[in-house]
Amino acid sequence: MQNNFTPQLVSGRTITQPAKQVKVLERFDVAVLGGGPAGVCAATAAARMGRKVILVERHGFLGGMATAAIVNIWHTMLGMDKQTKVIGGLVDEIISTLVDQAAAYNQKEDGTGQWVIDPHVSKLVFDNLVLDAGVKLLLHTWVSDVICDGDRMTTVLIETKSGRLAIEADQFIDCTGDADLICRAGLQTQLGNAQHQCQPPSLCFRVDNVDKDAKPLHEVQDELFAEPMDYNGEYYPCFLWGTVMPQTDDERMLAGVRVLNINASDAMDFSRSEVEGRMQLQWLMNKLRGMPGWGKARLVEIPAQIGIRESHRILAEYQVSRQEILTGHQFADTVIQGTYPIDIHNPSGPGITFEHLDGMTNVVDGKRRSTLSRWDDQPMDAPKRDTLCWSVPFRSQIPKGLSNVLAAGRCIGAEHDSAGAIRVMVNAMQLGQSAGTAAAMAQTNSTASVDTHKLRSELIAQNVPLIRL
Ligand SMILES: Cc1cc2nc3c(=O)[nH]c(=O)nc-3n(C[C@H](O)[C@H](O)[C@H](O)COP(=O)(O)OP(=O)(O)OC[C@H]3O[C@@H](n4cnc5c(N)ncnc54)[C@H](O)[C@@H]3O)c2cc1C
Repeated sequence: MQNNFTPQLVSGRTITQPAKQVKVLERFDVAVLGGGPAGVCAATAAARMGRKVILVERHGFLGGMATAAIVNIWHTMLGMDKQTKVIGGLVDEIISTLVDQAAAYNQKEDGTGQWVIDPHVSKLVFDNLVLDAGVKLLLHTWVSDVICDGDRMTTVLIETKSGRLAIEADQFIDCTGDADLICRAGLQTQLGNAQHQCQPPSLCFRVDNVDKDAKPLHEVQDELFAEPMDYNGEYYPCFLWGTVMPQTDDERMLAGVRVLNINASDAMDFSRSEVEGRMQLQWLMNKLRGMPGWGKARLVEIPAQIGIRESHRILAEYQVSRQEILTGHQFADTVIQGTYPIDIHNPSGPGITFEHLDGMTNVVDGKRRSTLSRWDDQPMDAPKRDTLCWSVPFRSQIPKGLSNVLAAGRCIGAEHDSAGAIRVMVNAMQLGQSAGTAAAMAQTNSTASVDTHKLRSELIAQNVPLIRL
């Protein structure tokens, strides 16, 4: 698409900002930056351990992609056997609260499927969770810079409606999704895949007035692919999926827009993704309204932002590999477990590749046709692998080069492929719980000094069902 609407940087030109005094907030034990699924759980966990905690978020509400981008499918807490609980703790508390408020349902009657969540009730649940734990909240606030003294981060600079302010704390947790804190500290990161291409952002949206027997989404994909899109002359690049919103029968969340070749941590690209996302949405709505049962569909929500799947990941003390995820490797310092497959959306065209723990690879093309193979090189009819879950070690949350900073959520230390499995909501929340607990245990010491046996015991005491090694 012709981009003549984002400003350009003047090549080679910089200015020196004059030094000025910055007001400082009261001191905190733990500062959590970014209030998405990871940040909410990090702040709650640290505060429940008795620490004085601040949580900073750029939107006016918590939840990150779960609320600001209305990504409302959360994956199961069960292992691959569909019986053993491998995820719990705060994830369990949050889902139970949503279910109690009729703001979540399981896609399978026996409760073994994915959870569909109401993103707006989630905002209230997240507020209550952090406030009940005693967390101090600063909303509508951007993290803009950091100050380090050797390997210790001393200060985070934030942009607020009152201007620039400073936060000082003993421990900092980067939950920005994009590793903003680590990038501002000048540390090296991994951006996207080996070619620095990131999984594409997608704009989710809500429609109502959809007939109960409307043409299913998996049957409309071919028609969407039949001719190029009107706004840019290219073929539809997305994999259209959606959910029926809790407590409704005519309202859907649709994840139907994908913007290609975007680095969401680049200001111009991020702006382009929003504008192009809305253009694609208009094209898609027109197409959908021509399908049986979709004729009266009404657009009821374009969320606060496009959904971001991937940008920078920290270079950690340990980078989790694809092989370790697929083979369910357990580490001595495992702090979270998961089952979500490696799920890579093509950064520059249609299609998705899934690699499952049972040994299967499923490549879905633009027309939604699946090609099955095995990543473990076994014959197709060989027995499926019986791996229960994969795991992530605490070391993957410790950025190399900083002794009092942890990362949680989609920006932890993982290779591109493995991050494709770790990035989903239930895992981000668990990583938050782990980081918050560890930061609380570290007190004024280095995060690397945290005894990982004690950390694991503490997480187990918090109802995180870690496999005992
Ligand atoms: C379209 C799409 C579909 C997806 N589908 C699923 C799915 O079906 N199931 C699933 O579980 N997961 C899904 N995911 C993945 C999941 O939503 C994210 O990976 C997850 O939200 C990561 O959580 P996080 O807390 O690490 O980051 P985020 O949710 O991105 O939260 C980061 C938070 O930090 C804030 N922030 C960022 N930078 C700053 C800054 N500089 N200053 C202050 N605040 C800042 C943001 O506003 C945000 O609230 C999907 C993602 C997308 C985009």
